[in-house]
Amino acid sequence: MDFSLSQEQQMLIDTLKTMAKRENFKELASNIDATGEFPRHLMKKYGDMGLLGMTLSTEYGGGGRPAIDAILAIEELAKFSPIIAGPVFESNVGPVKVIDLFGTEEQKNSIIPGVCKGEYSVSVCMTEPGAGSDLTALSTNVREDGDHYILNGRKAFITGGGEASHYLVYVRFGDIPGYKGIGAIIVEEGMPGFSFGKQEEYMGLRGMPSCDLIFEDVHIPKENVVVKPGDFKNLMLTFDIERCGNAAMCLGVAGGALEEAKAYAQERQAFGRPICEFQAIQFMIVDMAMNLDAARLLVYRAATGAGQGLPSIYESAIAKCFANEMVMDVTNRAMEVFGGYGYSKEFPVERMLRDGRAWRTAGGTMQMLRITIASLIFGRRFNQRKD
Ligand SMILES: Cc1cc2nc3c(=O)[nH]c(=O)nc-3n(C[C@H](O)[C@H](O)[C@H](O)COP(=O)(O)OP(=O)(O)OC[C@H]3O[C@@H](n4cnc5c(N)ncnc54)[C@H](O)[C@@H]3O)c2cc1C
Repeated sequence: MDFSLSQEQQMLIDTLKTMAKRENFKELASNIDATGEFPRHLMKKYGDMGLLGMTLSTEYGGGGRPAIDAILAIEELAKFSPIIAGPVFESNVGPVKVIDLFGTEEQKNSIIPGVCKGEYSVSVCMTEPGAGSDLTALSTNVREDGDHYILNGRKAFITGGGEASHYLVYVRFGDIPGYKGIGAIIVEEGMPGFSFGKQEEYMGLRGMPSCDLIFEDVHIPKENVVVKPGDFKNLMLTFDIERCGNAAMCLGVAGGALEEAKAYAQERQAFGRPICEFQAIQFMIVDMAMNLDAARLLVYRAATGAGQGLPSIYESAIAKCFANEMVMDVTNRAMEVFGGYGYSKEFPVERMLRDGRAWRTAGGTMQMLRITIASLIFGRRFNQRKD
């Protein structure tokens, strides 16, 4: 077991630290939260630096690097804001990975190079107004019609909605019931019959585009099928790498909050001394660091195990679950260290708490993850559906 970073990984982290200072990511993070504007200008910069698609296949312009490298980059950038880390997340552990693993040559050639340059981005579209945790109840549907499919339905809470160029949409093929009827197709922005609902107003993650997608008789060429019905398992396996990315966002947000709390505890005076001299404050900082480090080991284990492929379901589910809970604890304690100023928008920790809260719902709730983990521990499935 080797817990050290390679020279290349250390260089990646150092480059991101330098960039964050040069571009003043601390101020950018606060501006994004205040204006709610997605930082589009980062896409090209990240593309030029090779941060986009660093885990995708080299034949299509990707970097061919292992998943852990992307996880380290996401963590480093999310210390400032998950919105700043967003494009690195989407292009490395998001749905474009499904296209890289299971797409046709034509799909890979037409999408991956654009993603790596920051010209394209792909959103994952599973959730529907009536099917979230219960994904296999989804009703967005395609029907065969000559050389294409006709798509109808609605998706909800889609990250990148209205901003992405491509949408990997989970659909039911015809009337095939249950998970056996579910596959995935690519829908391109601008296809006739494809429109967007209003942008979501979330508690946090301001600046992250998100909305409903509406499909009304959209004609989809048959070549746009990425995963056909019957291969639902593949689709869900790929989602495990996204879970590591979700957990890395939590590591970053918590790491950012810990840094803020550490600095504040050394500056803020009470009873004539810096508050870091009070043991109660020291212990809070220690608990934050301890919790963060434990989560980091779980996330790194899952991501390292993935290599250039996919992580173990067990390791990625445990890592996400633990990191999702950890980030709430750490940001909450950071707020405590800041006293009344922690609750004020003048300081970043209240934003970090709001941003940290999102990840435990996105990508599968705490309850659904625990159901997955329980079934792996007991070695059997527990059917949740009412007979
Ligand atoms: C910030 C954010 C970003 C998101 N991005 C995307 C995206 O890009 N693409 C996408 O497709 N979706 C996205 N989502 C949607 C997300 O995946 C769903 O919200 C999530 O899966 C939960 O589904 P739901 O909201 O329908 O809740 P429900 O499924 O209605 O669940 C409600 C509650 O019931 C619990 N519950 C349900 N079933 C069980 C059970 N069997 N046992 C115990 N408890 C249960 C849940 O855990 C939850 O607490 C995003 C959500 C958020 C908040």
